[in-house]
Amino acid sequence: MLNLVLFGPPGAGKGTQAEFLISTYHLNHLSTGEILRNEISRQTSLGNQAKKYIDKGELVPDSVVICMIRQKMESTPEAKGFIFDGFPRTVDQAVALDKLLIKQGAPLKGMLSLEVEEQELIDRLLKRGLISGRSDDQDLSIIKNRIEVYNQKTAPLIRYYSDQGKYYSINGMGNIEDIADRLIKAVDTLQ
Ligand code: ADP
Repeated sequence: MLNLVLFGPPGAGKGTQAEFLISTYHLNHLSTGEILRNEISRQTSLGNQAKKYIDKGELVPDSVVICMIRQKMESTPEAKGFIFDGFPRTVDQAVALDKLLIKQGAPLKGMLSLEVEEQELIDRLLKRGLISGRSDDQDLSIIKNRIEVYNQKTAPLIRYYSDQGKYYSINGMGNIEDIADRLIKAVDTLQ
């Protein structure tokens, strides 16, 4: 099994690049943001709860997203591997993911971190907000809060994974195909 974390701040291009990795390596995509937005559009009780956090640019509680990921993994036992996108976002989530993967006998191969300058992130998110309709992409103060939350709660994962020898930095600036090539080269060295 090839299990990978696609990591980076909001607007780093995780969703876009996940598409290339999925088609190249035939992996399952697990995006917590996508799952949560789906719950919100179906107005489930989980979705209604999550919306309160997402609309402020805050993180949804760890227990909620960990439970979601566990259920999705258990419902696809035939998967050749997973790309975790937007998860983990806290050290507690990373510890929970390690436990889940070890239980499956397929520990994480690597964490691919897309590195993008902050002003570029803000420009990309505002641009996406014009077409995606995502309310969390349309307000500069919410975007700035998401980047702040990333710096405080999520960036410490770089240390967490580099201590395990699993951190791979990828330049996330430039055109989409060039970034995909960099990612694929990195994954090929992991296999
Ligand atoms: P982006 O990476 O552009 O912020 P996502 O779709 O990954 O977009 O996430 C959107 C929002 O969903 C986040 O701002 C957060 O509120 C919530 N969210 C997604 N994944 C997680 C997670 N692993 N833990 C907590 N909250 C999450």
